[in-house]
Amino acid sequence: MSLVDIPSSAAGFLDKVHSHFINGSPVKASGTGRIDVRDPSTSAVISSIADASQSDVDDAVFSARAAFESSAWRDMKPSARARLIYQYADLIEAHADELAMLESLDGGKPIALAKPVDVMATVGAFRYYAGWADKINGTTNTINMDGEHHAYTLKEPVGVAALIVPWNYPLVMAGMKLAPALAAGCACILKPAEDTSITALRLAELAIEAGFPPGIFNVVTGRGQTAGQMLSEHPGIDKVAFTGSTVTGKKIVQAAAGNLKKVTLELGGKSPNIIFPDANMEKVIPASAMAIFFNSGQVCTAASRMFVHASVHDQVVEGVSAVAQSLKVGACRDLETILGPLVSERQLDRVQAYIKSGVNEGGEIICGGNRIGDEGYFVAPTVLGNIAPDMAVAREEIFGPVLVVQKFTDTNEVIAAANDSEYGLSSAVWTQDISVAHYVAARLRTGQVGVNCAAVADWDLPIGGYKQSGWGRENGFDGLANYLQTKAVAVSI
Ligand code: NAP
Ligand code: MG
Repeated sequence: MSLVDIPSSAAGFLDKVHSHFINGSPVKASGTGRIDVRDPSTSAVISSIADASQSDVDDAVFSARAAFESSAWRDMKPSARARLIYQYADLIEAHADELAMLESLDGGKPIALAKPVDVMATVGAFRYYAGWADKINGTTNTINMDGEHHAYTLKEPVGVAALIVPWNYPLVMAGMKLAPALAAGCACILKPAEDTSITALRLAELAIEAGFPPGIFNVVTGRGQTAGQMLSEHPGIDKVAFTGSTVTGKKIVQAAAGNLKKVTLELGGKSPNIIFPDANMEKVIPASAMAIFFNSGQVCTAASRMFVHASVHDQVVEGVSAVAQSLKVGACRDLETILGPLVSERQLDRVQAYIKSGVNEGGEIICGGNRIGDEGYFVAPTVLGNIAPDMAVAREEIFGPVLVVQKFTDTNEVIAAANDSEYGLSSAVWTQDISVAHYVAARLRTGQVGVNCAAVADWDLPIGGYKQSGWGRENGFDGLANYLQTKAVAVSI
């Protein structure tokens, strides 16, 4: 085991007494509440964050509102805003090693992946949306009313946006919302998950260094039920963009009703991965394993339900289990680690409880099923067979390295089984038969479909849910449109 050294910049950042980041600088929290920051590889406390009170939230909203209305932001030319976002991306990239280590220690990311995946995808978000910032245009409209009119639409920023993100990809989720919000000209308040707030605070510092006006990007740390809820209810906020669980998404919708703020939700999934007998076995086996086990299964689009044609069932299950057992699970600073720990003790307990419930309901552990070690929050990649569609493990989002496998023989039967879910985020179908591929893709009720590949994540490709997997789409132009509103102007000539 070769542990990567912690860069002094990252160690120094963890040593700080963190608070919220409001109006361009770290501010003293109004209360004394603190939340421990733990390294999920060791369970050790490595830092702490502030637990926001209502007055901290109010300060952040006040700061964002003032910044949104300031001429420094409002009157900035779109090309200057684009350049600023590009500069920000460059600065994040220049701090990639530090950010990767912070993400690794705080959230359990294998260090070999934290930089190329987490940090560089975040950089990609800012570069992608920087390119949109000076291409946000309305339309000219033909009016049929009596009299002569010149009519057009303007695309305007929606205002102050609260961005509430989960712990599975702290940097990427922040970038996914911040980048389009900033490109659109909004002012933001980011509420990171209480388990992974460290890199959000560093991102806010870098935004000031990049040259954003103070107050355009604020961070409030604290608990979801308090800080998150206060933001969702706040009358001074125009928009909430949320990624997380469906249960919390519903609470946000209710909280947002007070001032009818705009809401987008990217929620859970229980994504089906359908394997026909003619699929390319060399491709489908490793890809199906990584589609559930990557990031230790803590992925909203994780392909957690595998439906395999009976004629290739044993071959696929054996292959996927062999891949599962070959993946090195270990401490995040170990360069050889492919799968890190789960994010928290709570998540460890939750995943273990699901595995137990699967077995109690008649499921069979084909591989894994156990916690690894008694330090940190590691679970072995697990494959469960003998699954009936009504079991909790087949219906609920586990958000851990747990795959459930079901057999099928008929195409329409597997489409119905795949769609028998309250979720509809992502899906995949594997076949060499182009007709079957399109037939199935057209009938799956999910926001994304992979054909001969797992869910594809790209800044230009919309992601979002059918059914209870969410409202709206992120990424691409759709992602930008979440932060814009349309004003129609008609001029009588
Ligand atoms: P969660 O409650 O949905 O948390 C996501 C974010 O929402 C966090 O920032 C959280 O803050 C905040 N939050 C919590 N309650 C809130 C409220 N009432 N109002 C506003 N914001 C609130 O998810 P979780 O409890 O950490 O994880 C539970 C399960 O959710 C997981 O096991 C998984 O199944 C699912 N999940 C899905 C995704 C996804 O991408 N689809 C991501 C994360 C979790 P705190 O962290 O401070 O509570
Ligand atoms: Mg942590």
